[in-house]
Amino acid sequence: MLLRAREVEEPRLDAMRAARVLAEAGALLAAELENEECMEPLLRLLVPTLADAGVFFLGPGGEAVRAAAAVHAEPARHALLVEMLRRYPPDPLDPRGLPALFLTGRTERVAELSDAHVETFTRDSEHARLFALLGVTRYLGVPLVARGRVIGALALFRSEEAPAFGDEEERVAEELARRAALALDNARLLREAREAVRLRDEFLGIASHELKTPLTPLHLKVQLLQKQVDVLAAHGKPVSAERVSETLDVVQRQVRKLTSLVDNLLDVSRITAGRLKLELEEMDLASVAAEILYRFAPSAAQLHCSLEMHAPVPVLGRWDRLRLEQVVTNLLSNALKYGAGQPVRLTVEADGRTARLTVEDGGIGISAQDLPRIFERFERAVSDRHYGGLGLGLYITRQIVEAFGGTVRATSALGHGSTFVLELPRGDIPDEWLSVPGAPEPVP
Ligand code: ADP
Repeated sequence: MLLRAREVEEPRLDAMRAARVLAEAGALLAAELENEECMEPLLRLLVPTLADAGVFFLGPGGEAVRAAAAVHAEPARHALLVEMLRRYPPDPLDPRGLPALFLTGRTERVAELSDAHVETFTRDSEHARLFALLGVTRYLGVPLVARGRVIGALALFRSEEAPAFGDEEERVAEELARRAALALDNARLLREAREAVRLRDEFLGIASHELKTPLTPLHLKVQLLQKQVDVLAAHGKPVSAERVSETLDVVQRQVRKLTSLVDNLLDVSRITAGRLKLELEEMDLASVAAEILYRFAPSAAQLHCSLEMHAPVPVLGRWDRLRLEQVVTNLLSNALKYGAGQPVRLTVEADGRTARLTVEDGGIGISAQDLPRIFERFERAVSDRHYGGLGLGLYITRQIVEAFGGTVRATSALGHGSTFVLELPRGDIPDEWLSVPGAPEPVP
């Protein structure tokens, strides 16, 4: 009671100053929406008005927890605080050194930090020694919560000469944290929205270019044929069937290319809308793969690239035939496209209830840095000046494979080829199909 009476008598932050702090904080947050540069000025509104030292921690939600800003009212101790945070940066895997409210999401107020308290948030004796040198004993920690998620924390400290934090001061700190969290979350949403728009615009540019590329030879060939037909007709001569057929070949190839581009785009919108439907039936993965490989024989020959297949036994399972063909086609066409003319090897095997298909090439490879993003939508690891493409094939592949309940992963090193491994559950099939060799044919 005595303590409370003293707090009421000597508030560090009376109602008018509190209102001013919150108004100034509002102005700062509105002005600096783009980045976290407002964190330190924000702390300077509170130190020394409300506290002798303060730290803004920002963190979870994909980002590492870090001390975004720190201020101590005394210059010498300010340097010490910054040094302590540099030497002992918060580590999400080691909750010591981090305000526990990251985990609880609740405000914490400690009138007098005991040795036991200090021990819980310092990592070793040196950390505790540095903390002791800061000369603070009173603590108020409030979480930064945005849309139900703790995105950071504000830790405020006072020296023992100052009164402990009071209820009203806690309310002001919470209000400021609420506004800061909202502004930071809005800034993040804005950044993400801008990035999405940038990606979409970049994609539209590439997509228009890709769709236009087959149109040019298509247009030229048809125009040329038209001219020849006109000239021959003018001289009353018949049109050579060979020439017409040659032109139609080119036309057909380019139309196929356009169709496949448009199909990919349609698949992406189907996947985004969650409308990827599978029609499961029994089939042999080895035969499906052999058939696709056979379709690639002419383009492989053109690239002087040898295609090898190793599939000693049938691998029966229940899958959607067209989607399975699409996945194998995507992997094989990439192996040829990025394969630098080196041999491409396709392997099909079974491991109990899992079917495995591997496509290995000795081509340009993918750097460790690019590898994690190639299965994402529109992501490419090559320049569009050297290789055309929309960056959708692997994205669609992964979505289909995951719809089958399987996985697809890649291992690669730049300049040393790539290996894509597909693992698919064989589905609800009779036990006797699992025993190889000599698995029986599926019942029609
Ligand atoms: P696209 O080939 O249309 O660009 P994909 O989604 O099929 O799109 O592939 C994404 C990216 O992954 C490619 O742009 C390329 O950088 C890389 N990639 C895919 N397969 C291979 C491969 N076999 N070898 C090297 N890079 C590959």
